[in-house]
Amino acid sequence: MPEITRRKSVTVNIGGVRVGSDAPVVVQSMTNTDTADIETSIQQVAALARAGSEMVRLTVNNDEAAKAIPYIKEGIEKKGWNTPLIGDFHYNGHILLTKYPECAQALAKYRINPGNVSIGRKDDDNFRTMVECAVKNQKPVRIGVNWGSLDQALLTKMMDENSKSAHPLDARDVMLETMVRSAYDNAIAAERYGLRRDQIILSVKVSNVRDLIDVYTELAKRTDHALHLGLTEAGMGMKGTVASTAGLAPLLLAGIGDTIRVSLTPTPGGDRAEEVRCAQQILQALNIRSFTPQVTSCPGCGRTTSTYFQMLAEQVTGYITEQMPEWKKLYPGVEEMKLAVMGCVVNGPGESKHANIGISLPGTFEEPKAPVYVDGKLYTTLKGEGIVDEFKVILDNYVKSHYGSSGPAHIQELAAIS
Ligand code: SF4
Repeated sequence: MPEITRRKSVTVNIGGVRVGSDAPVVVQSMTNTDTADIETSIQQVAALARAGSEMVRLTVNNDEAAKAIPYIKEGIEKKGWNTPLIGDFHYNGHILLTKYPECAQALAKYRINPGNVSIGRKDDDNFRTMVECAVKNQKPVRIGVNWGSLDQALLTKMMDENSKSAHPLDARDVMLETMVRSAYDNAIAAERYGLRRDQIILSVKVSNVRDLIDVYTELAKRTDHALHLGLTEAGMGMKGTVASTAGLAPLLLAGIGDTIRVSLTPTPGGDRAEEVRCAQQILQALNIRSFTPQVTSCPGCGRTTSTYFQMLAEQVTGYITEQMPEWKKLYPGVEEMKLAVMGCVVNGPGESKHANIGISLPGTFEEPKAPVYVDGKLYTTLKGEGIVDEFKVILDNYVKSHYGSSGPAHIQELAAIS
């Protein structure tokens, strides 16, 4: 697999998590609880951390939210998590960070939106206050431009300049250029007000995939600041997942993006941690990082008239998700494991042989038996009602024997255990 050459950038330390250049691409997420509801926010931050979010952002939108932040930090630490918390500020961040120094201290990074920090002002005093607070507390910031809240004064100025140009750009290009300028100019201003370059991350989020690719490609050419990458307002379910993947993949393959967030709209009452798993899957599908064992399964066809193999694929995938928090601690390297759950004899044995463990179920009219391959060799053949449970036992034993503290075991040792 050819290596991806990461874009060179400065590296930012966010509460002990390194972001940029040679550091692994960091997965982050954001809560959707009322930050002022301390207990619920603690539960959700912990759930996101448990799913693998390496940083968690919370909105800090009013006095109650700012007061809650130190307690949320304390609460998640009591649960055993030291996940850095990021404060998301809009409109009144300069007031809240000044008024609540405990909040400013508890947060590991501040997100500043240059499009709404100075609304109605001719100076950048509010922005400067936030930066000075970051300098005082030695916290990094993200200058997070979003096209939905783009600095309207800057956009108007650039549209005016463009209209007078001999070769005017179209409105889309002016908008994207305004986003790049907003991020870059504010980063330079933040450096002027005392932050070091390795304390600044930039983002320029849009909700259209092609715009995202173009705007980040341009920003990446102009600066060596570390970049936070994400498609904003990606949407729900499959649409959000596909759009995020389509937008992030070309950039990540080009080495652009030091930390990512997938902004999925959850279903009512849905699992917020889906956005973490989606971000992890994007990185894993691109062979950038490994987070969890991957299950290869075929789509099924007319050769599999029962749903048995779909059920097996679902159960195995669910079982792995359930076990991973524990496996991660006990069995380093288990995230590299590959499984195959295949519907019939056509591609089943071939695909199974390429996995660490593979099972090929009987298709319609095939003999009712399921050969299991371990490390490319036929290990056993399962039959009857207990296939799912027996396969899980083989999986458990493989994990213990290959990723446990005693190190990789030979196939015969596995046979002895099972
Ligand atoms: S492996 Fe068999 S069941 Fe699965 S898609 Fe291919 S032919 Fe169909």
